Amino acid sequence: MKNETAIIVGAGLVGSLWAVFLARRGYQVKVFERRSDMRQAGYYGGKSINLAMSERGWKAIDQAGIREKLEKVAIPMPGRMIHNLSGEVVFQPYGKEGEAIYSVSRGGLNLELLHIAGAFPNVEFYFEHRCVEVDLNNPVITFEDMKTGEVKTLDAPLIFGTDGAFSAVRYALQRTDRFNYRQFYLDHGYKELTIPPNADGSHRMDPDALHIWPRGNHMLIALPNADGSFTCTMFLPFEGPVSFEHLTNDAEVMAFFGKYFPDAIPLMPTLLHDFWANPTSSLVTVQCSPWQWQGRILLLGDAAHAIVPFYGQGMNAGFEDCTILASFFCSN
Ligand SMILES: Cc1cc2nc3c(=O)[nH]c(=O)nc-3n(C[C@H](O)[C@H](O)[C@H](O)COP(=O)(O)OP(=O)(O)OC[C@H]3O[C@@H](n4cnc5c(N)ncnc54)[C@H](O)[C@@H]3O)c2cc1C
Repeated sequence: MKNETAIIVGAGLVGSLWAVFLARRGYQVKVFERRSDMRQAGYYGGKSINLAMSERGWKAIDQAGIREKLEKVAIPMPGRMIHNLSGEVVFQPYGKEGEAIYSVSRGGLNLELLHIAGAFPNVEFYFEHRCVEVDLNNPVITFEDMKTGEVKTLDAPLIFGTDGAFSAVRYALQRTDRFNYRQFYLDHGYKELTIPPNADGSHRMDPDALHIWPRGNHMLIALPNADGSFTCTMFLPFEGPVSFEHLTNDAEVMAFFGKYFPDAIPLMPTLLHDFWANPTSSLVTVQCSPWQWQGRILLLGDAAHAIVPFYGQGMNAGFEDCTILASFFCSN
């Protein structure tokens, strides 16, 4: 057993998975997260986007030894179901017989990973703690306790920055000589919508597929949930002839859906409520190098390489960071 302390900044998907890897190797793991503890507070009031998990992601889950626990929150999608404008649906398999990608709720998966990591006696979580400074000259890190306003500086010989696309850990590295950094936003935004279950709890569409309504420069997708619902995401430009800027009232939203997604309207009785209740969010890509500082600070996941969702690889790539790092970091 190692007795070294490792600090993880950010208890999102990658941070909580990496905590499991380190805990299994005997590190004393301290995880700091600016949000409240979703094990008590729930995740985003129960709302979350869904993600497609592929083999790259499962490999990390396997290596952490937690597949059995996570399989219960994942639904296999062996192919995609294309919804044409005419109402015709066409199934396109993703791979050979038995191959699939898996639908997982980001919040649900995060919650499960927190439970798994939190069960290790050598993992301590500090929620509502925001990283405000990483000292590159001394092995210390500073957090603000968001409940009390107290600022705490801790010894930090080993830091993992898993604090997402707007990483505070990366921000410290960005100020060093020859650090390359690039961030750019898509012209498109996204909005989460819902297809609720039928009254008997069954799915309103085939649950064994990732449903896509492709419409040129915009699209709607729907991923199945175990409770009979689908989580939908609509991707649309912020501005332009067909864009969010022209969806300003109920009539415009209904006319838009009637024109582009007519077969989805009967499936979405809460469409208008969801449309106004949920934010329109942006999509950022982040590239930077190097990902480490003097062998004691390392960026993982979106903090190192946030990518737009159309590849379905952001989480998968972050989980693969864990697999690869573990292959040489944890073995000695
Ligand atoms: C619409 C959409 C669809 C997507 N679909 C897919 C998909 O199908 N497949 C896929 O693989 N990926 C997908 N992704 C990408 C995926 O969601 C991300 O790659 C993944 O969540 C990254 O995990 P992470 O842990 O690196 O970062 P995050 O999930 O962003 O977690 C970072 C954590 O750090 C915390 N934090 C931030 N700053 C601080 C601070 N200063 N101090 C303390 N804590 C802090 C945050 O609160 C958060 O909990 C999608 C993304 C979007 C937006």
